[in-house]
Amino acid sequence: MAQLYRRRCSSWVYALVGAIIFAVSSSFALAQTGKAPMHSSLPRVLVLATGGTISGKASERSAISYDAGAVTGEDLIAGVPGIEKLARLKAEQISNIPSQNMNSKVWFRLAERINQVFAHDEADAVVITHGTDTMEETAFFLDKVIKTSHPVILTGAMRPSTAISADGPANMYEAVKVAVDPAAQGRGVMIVLNDTIHAARWVTKTSTTSLETFKSQIAGPIGAVDAASVRFFGPPVSFNHIALPTEQNLPQVRIIYAHADMDAQQIDEAVKAGAAGLVIAGMGDGNVSQEALSGLDRAVKAGVIIVRSARVGEGFVNRNVEVNDDEHGLVVSYDLNPQKARILLQLLLANHVRDKSKIQQDFLARY
Ligand code: ASP
Repeated sequence: MAQLYRRRCSSWVYALVGAIIFAVSSSFALAQTGKAPMHSSLPRVLVLATGGTISGKASERSAISYDAGAVTGEDLIAGVPGIEKLARLKAEQISNIPSQNMNSKVWFRLAERINQVFAHDEADAVVITHGTDTMEETAFFLDKVIKTSHPVILTGAMRPSTAISADGPANMYEAVKVAVDPAAQGRGVMIVLNDTIHAARWVTKTSTTSLETFKSQIAGPIGAVDAASVRFFGPPVSFNHIALPTEQNLPQVRIIYAHADMDAQQIDEAVKAGAAGLVIAGMGDGNVSQEALSGLDRAVKAGVIIVRSARVGEGFVNRNVEVNDDEHGLVVSYDLNPQKARILLQLLLANHVRDKSKIQQDFLARY
């Protein structure tokens, strides 16, 4: 018994001496490098801030009023407890606008900066903070023009930073959590909001006010995230890219919203104003009135590319169902909603793709 006691005591003494030697040598190493060892192995995430409600502050207009784009990207990071344990973060301000003012100049700035970041190994992933109104459009544009396997994630908020239970900090935390997850590689541009991960192609904003606003109506979300875990529901999908146009002024493509009592006036005016393309937010599966269809025929004759999409918000617009697209010389958008169909047509036209069958092919490109 006494022998056993002595043996236990001596192994404790050895352990203690070992621990002291380890502590002294590692503090010496720390003093030499001057770096905090815990954080240096964390992935690097660059936050590109563009504005939106996530950086909004209350205004005095009414109990629910706020001004979007009032807080900087640095402040956003500083307001998220524990985020520094996920990644080494840096922020850059690309713009500070509500996303109803989003425009192709900012899209080019984002695309060029992201290409540069990955080409020069400045970060392992990019998180973009953005207003929710046009988030799906920016995500879709970047998804088309950026060729990288590094995660690029957009996030935002439905409530401003000053609101009771603001959703921005949790969304920001979860966006970074997804960005640093190895399974997020090779999935194109994603939107992370409200515990859900969406692919740029299918996601759309569905509610003006609800926190659960982003939905991928046809394909469903591609994953789920919470403070402890990231889950993708399937493997990465391969998809086609389009070169970032050299000319930053994208061709003029207008969206025309179809409705009962529809005439051709808006179509004729758009052609007169020099539109290179028109996207129809059609009724049902992309329909327009007989009168409007005659307007489309005139537009096609004038060399304008017409894409039939739908105002419905869910489902496909297929070729030659209620409208004879072959006969009228029209393109259909399949699953793309009007705002994304517009961007795709702009990018194709900017890359000098004018052949309608080629354009039609490109609308299928992510299957
Ligand atoms: N209008 C705001 C924006 O898109 C709404 C939001 O961010 O949720 O910037």
